[in-house]
Amino acid sequence: MAEPGEKLVHVGIDDTDSPLGMCTTYVSSILMLELMKRGCSLADFPYLVRLNPNIPFKTRGNGAVSLHLRCEMGAEEVAGVVERVLEAYSERHAKTDPTAVVVQGDVGELRSVYRRALVELLAPSQVEKALRGARAMVLGGRKGRGVVGAAASIGAYELDVFTYELLLYVPPGSAKPPQAEEGVVELDRLLRPLTFANVDYGASRVLATPRGPDPVLAGIRSANPLVLSSIARRLAESWGASLAVIFKTNQATGAHLSKVKPVGELRPYDSAVVRGLVVAPPAELRGGHVALKVGDSTGTVTCMFYRETGLQRVAKLLREGDRVEVGGGVVPRSRGLTLNAEYVRVLDAPPLSKLENPRCPLCGKRMKSLGKRGGFKCPACGYRDPALGKVEVRVPRFLEPGLYLQRPLAYRHLSPPAEAMGVEPVRAPPLPSLVVWPPPRS
Ligand SMILES: [Zn+2]
Repeated sequence: MAEPGEKLVHVGIDDTDSPLGMCTTYVSSILMLELMKRGCSLADFPYLVRLNPNIPFKTRGNGAVSLHLRCEMGAEEVAGVVERVLEAYSERHAKTDPTAVVVQGDVGELRSVYRRALVELLAPSQVEKALRGARAMVLGGRKGRGVVGAAASIGAYELDVFTYELLLYVPPGSAKPPQAEEGVVELDRLLRPLTFANVDYGASRVLATPRGPDPVLAGIRSANPLVLSSIARRLAESWGASLAVIFKTNQATGAHLSKVKPVGELRPYDSAVVRGLVVAPPAELRGGHVALKVGDSTGTVTCMFYRETGLQRVAKLLREGDRVEVGGGVVPRSRGLTLNAEYVRVLDAPPLSKLENPRCPLCGKRMKSLGKRGGFKCPACGYRDPALGKVEVRVPRFLEPGLYLQRPLAYRHLSPPAEAMGVEPVRAPPLPSLVVWPPPRS
């Protein structure tokens, strides 16, 4: 609860131009420190909000950040600080064009903007009404698209399903110290499954240390913010980071694939889950990918299982009549929409059967059909029986019902990694004393 005179102020930031989207978290962290210096306190962790990963003009990381603060000053004064920080940052780092949205009090209809931006392609015009309803201020953003992410990131408040990520930064433009990568592997061994998605052992790749030009040295994911809080300072010091911030995030929650959609209602760039029957045998394509037609009462869609995901091995084993659930991204192709699978759940794979000629009751050899007149004859001993018919033989399935996830290297940020399944996020922990290191100097 806010103290008398304090206001709850939300700031959402999206940066349409930064190469990996991760600059958004950095500029937001700088802004958060600036607002804390001016007496604002954190009403919650800063949010790193991932949105629909299938938007064509966005990177796979499609993410925005929101801050939720209790401030003596009102939204207008906060907006002034936001504007100054963004301007200074954009001047120094020409490749960025951040857009910010500032809202005071209830986030109102922005909640539905978040829910839609998770799974659909939204145009800036589609969020205008919600912004007016929330009496939001929109700052910066020459290209206009960032307003959707900035608005949606505020609408995520309060996240009901979430994990956490500790981000460690170096100053933008400076070299990344090499010790982080080795450090991540050691950390993963010590803390798994308290931290997750750090390393893809199958591919021998450290996932937690991005190599791009962004200022992120490492990102350590966890269901438990207290674990992150207790290691943040030590990691920052030993890995050579200048700043460490713990974000609450919808990453690893599968939030973009939580609703089943009728096939007939799929639209381009949706993130969607369909449930239905396999209606044709799987088709193996060049490159090792597999295409599979799945239908429900409203239509059929071709589900693509790309080799990189590892899911093509499951798709190959599916047969007509199997019941499946496929989650993924809808992509328009010349021959209609396809659903690029991120996961597949085999709901029912009934045993297959085939009809075979009977065996000879005398010598055990496979008998030959006598054609239309009926009956079978043994090619070995000559035994004939006009009353014999074909026999049904069960074909074993090498496919168990259950959930199949893509390989860690192919993960979207929103995909739940197998190693974190069953790890319950710490629900309502007290804000740890260390959300950001070093703490703001007032
Ligand atoms: Zn025989």
